[in-house]
Amino acid sequence: MARVVESADRRRFIRLSAAGGAAVGLAGAVPRGFSQPAPPPRPGDGQTVTEPERDVPVWGQYDVVVVGGGIAGVAAAVAAARNGASTCLLEKEFALGGLATLGNVVVYLPLCDGMGNQVIAGIGEELLRLSVADGFNPIPACWLPDGDMEQRRKVRYRVTFNPASYMLALEEWVLASGVHLRYDVRFCTVVKRGDTIQAVVVESKSGRSAVLCRAVVDASGDADVCARAGEPTVSVRTNVAAGWFYTWDRQQLRLVPHSEEFGRDPNLAPKGERGFAGDDADDVTAQVIESRKGIRRRLEALRGKSPDKPLFAAILPTIPSFRMTRRLHGAAVVRESDDRRWCDGCVGMTGDWRKAGPIYFLPLGCLVGVVSKNLTVAGRCISADGPAWDVTRVIPTCAVTGEAAGTAAALAARDCGGDVSRLPLHVLQRRLQEQGVPMDRRLAR
Ligand SMILES: Cc1cc2nc3c(=O)[nH]c(=O)nc-3n(C[C@H](O)[C@H](O)[C@H](O)COP(=O)(O)OP(=O)(O)OC[C@H]3O[C@@H](n4cnc5c(N)ncnc54)[C@H](O)[C@@H]3O)c2cc1C
Repeated sequence: MARVVESADRRRFIRLSAAGGAAVGLAGAVPRGFSQPAPPPRPGDGQTVTEPERDVPVWGQYDVVVVGGGIAGVAAAVAAARNGASTCLLEKEFALGGLATLGNVVVYLPLCDGMGNQVIAGIGEELLRLSVADGFNPIPACWLPDGDMEQRRKVRYRVTFNPASYMLALEEWVLASGVHLRYDVRFCTVVKRGDTIQAVVVESKSGRSAVLCRAVVDASGDADVCARAGEPTVSVRTNVAAGWFYTWDRQQLRLVPHSEEFGRDPNLAPKGERGFAGDDADDVTAQVIESRKGIRRRLEALRGKSPDKPLFAAILPTIPSFRMTRRLHGAAVVRESDDRRWCDGCVGMTGDWRKAGPIYFLPLGCLVGVVSKNLTVAGRCISADGPAWDVTRVIPTCAVTGEAAGTAAALAARDCGGDVSRLPLHVLQRRLQEQGVPMDRRLAR
């Protein structure tokens, strides 16, 4: 079996808190019996252990490896496979869709600009149609072929879907494209040679292993690959406690879009509070626990309204409900001031889910690694700042950046050994347009 050796950087040290030290039996930190509570963790006391050097078995070799099976990841993987790349999709959970399904975030926000122009098509539109292919909700009539153009100025092209149906449909859709899907696989780190990622290292039920790759797409939502690959990233800790959930209420399932108030600018905490980060294990745990407390309070309040009627929690989110956590700081950064500003590097467009009017032309530079030549990024961790991050993080735009990143990775793997910087832009743009991705300069100001 082929093997890779992890870089010295990765295996050199594992930091442990005193409580963590107890778990591996460091003297003095282990409670003598179970009658005493374990001491509280004391993070940051500087203790370390040295991880022994080891070879890691290689279980696969692909043109394109996509990390994360949310909407961005499935769009990227299918786009790569359709472009002829052998493609592997790695997901730590046991379903596809990420926040859209496991997080019960069931509103597929608009594909239009609110002024009657459809700015998202291609896989972004295919995924919207797939989300309601079970007949759960109709697509607005004016957005069907030959729909009323005047109505399109008034009714936005969006739908609400059933997460369970979508979960089933996404898996079938991804497998039908020829993508090799692997669940229960957590991305851990990369093995690099110079500026190229040669392998991604993962942990699963089978232990630690590596996947060789020509190109990688980071669709982890939290820029996990970027962070491990040494890319410049930006983290914010302004997330609030949140979790959309369903109740069983008067013999019906009802969606409760539970969330604390959140700021439109990810750099500003709402109400001056501290907020949560999504790139820190303790903070992720704290956010999940606070969110569940909020759900319990919400349930109590709902029960209080009709105490004689039975009301139960039915379906809870099973992944943390973070909006913006850590992202790539790319060569290009999408900003609010880019509204309707054409960019030559355009690989897709998006409207603004919050209001009618704005259009953003998304440049390839916001999806490409700065120090890793064969890394592209998709979804809520692309390089977009301030309120523009709030615009690009939503489901339809994640599909757009997924399709662009996956297509770029596949073409780069085919033509340039994975090096996206050597991929001629016009080749990528032409391919995306053939796939139905709109890039309409006439809509620029
Ligand atoms: C409370 C809330 C309400 C929202 N409301 C809406 C809404 O109404 N409409 C809308 O369009 N958007 C909404 N959003 C935003 C939107 O749902 C998400 O931003 C979008 O779905 C993100 O897609 P993604 O693929 O980039 O990331 P994610 O959905 O986060 O997917 C990332 C995937 O990667 C996996 N992953 C992460 N790390 C690893 C790893 N190390 N190894 C392997 N796998 C990994 C995760 O398990 C996950 O499946 C909301 C978000 C929140 C939190």
